[in-house]
Amino acid sequence: MLLFPTFPWKSASAPCYGSAAMTAVIHPDIRPRINSVASDDLNAAERERIHAKSALFAPPEARLADGRRDLVGLSREELATLMTEIGEKPFRAKQLWHWIYHQGATDFSAMTTIAKPMQAKLAEHFVVSRPTTATEQTSVDETRKFLFRFRDGQEAETVYIPDRREDRGAVCISSQVGCTLSCTFCHTGTQKLVRNLGPAEIVGQFMAARDSYGEWPSPSADMPRYLSTIVLMGMGEPLYNYENVAKAMRIIMDGEGIALSRRRITLSTSGVVPMMDRCGDELGINLAISLHAVTNELRDQIVPLNRKYPIEELIAACRRYPAASNSRRITFEYIMLRGVNDSEADARELVRLIRDLPAKVNLIPFNPWPGSDFQPSTRQQLAKFANIVMDAGFASPIRTPRGQDILAACGQLKTESERQRRSATPEA
Ligand code: SAH
Ligand code: SF4
Repeated sequence: MLLFPTFPWKSASAPCYGSAAMTAVIHPDIRPRINSVASDDLNAAERERIHAKSALFAPPEARLADGRRDLVGLSREELATLMTEIGEKPFRAKQLWHWIYHQGATDFSAMTTIAKPMQAKLAEHFVVSRPTTATEQTSVDETRKFLFRFRDGQEAETVYIPDRREDRGAVCISSQVGCTLSCTFCHTGTQKLVRNLGPAEIVGQFMAARDSYGEWPSPSADMPRYLSTIVLMGMGEPLYNYENVAKAMRIIMDGEGIALSRRRITLSTSGVVPMMDRCGDELGINLAISLHAVTNELRDQIVPLNRKYPIEELIAACRRYPAASNSRRITFEYIMLRGVNDSEADARELVRLIRDLPAKVNLIPFNPWPGSDFQPSTRQQLAKFANIVMDAGFASPIRTPRGQDILAACGQLKTESERQRRSATPEA
């Protein structure tokens, strides 16, 4: 077990680390660092290990207590198979896809191109559902936070962040209830992983948010949209729930349904290196890296996953990322923590690390949460840091915190859900 040295930026009288950091001390997911860039074989073995762990936290089957299957979250092929199973032609799947994902219908009786007897038959076997909205809060800046409850009672948060100037905005989606990782600055990191979200629950967050704004039918690809981008930056580490996230994103990108382009979807990872190639090859969506520190020494402490996949491996994986180009740059997220990672030397090292990458840097002022230990950087320090990055030729916008009054900003999400039978459930 690795022990944390004393943080040099903590005064002796300050309360010691928050629960996130304490979780990190005992975190079993840490093993000795792989020193060189991982070989393909090593990556394949790591991927297997990640999938096996992910399966331990699988979501429950998307079925009601009365046996009816939820059609949301199924692939087109699975939908066609279900139709055959009830003695219908597979073309019904295409019809249903249109009603579910293009029109946003949740009631078979609204599916007017389907004859009434067939509507009744579908309703006997299936449902088209949404997560329940447990609470919905709108911030003074119009950011809206949803607490969604799933069929088994577990909950996750989703946030809609409208653009300040134009009629568009980003939907921030959760991929897990809680998180196995324990980044010390993140509220979600203080909530143990309860379980992975399934495709129906991931797509369902987006669809329920669209219900709230009445954005149905889905605008065609070239039309403006209010809910115009997706950022997988809510609760959880999406690359630790890759299969379910990938299935959900394929549904959302399908041209005959929601039809959101892969260029409008960004997945944020704390650096699960072995899964990054798959994400780029198979989904081709944009990538954001939660970097937050430029030395392994510091990153080991504040993003504990770094002990497994250190900075040099992370940057090498970014270099390989297939969906990156000058027009589609990788975003490096850098949370600005006063006196911790915000020096001018840090900025210069950041620029050196990413110098040969198509990259941009998002500087995120630290969003405090109840019990958090860090302080946001001063405005002057933020500006100094941003200037160094900008002078090196990288866009480095300072992200304006949104929805802070309702704890909807980056890293503030957390729900009351707890893992049941904790002692019987293995750690990830
Ligand atoms: N697990 C993924 C995605 C969810 S976190 C990841 O870590 O990338 C989304 C972003 O919010 C990450 O960049 C994360 O580092 C950042 N974040 C976490 N806590 C924060 C806080 N208190 N203030 C500002 N940003 C924070
Ligand atoms: Fe998990 Fe991301 Fe928060 Fe780290 S920053 S604890 S990976 S949700």
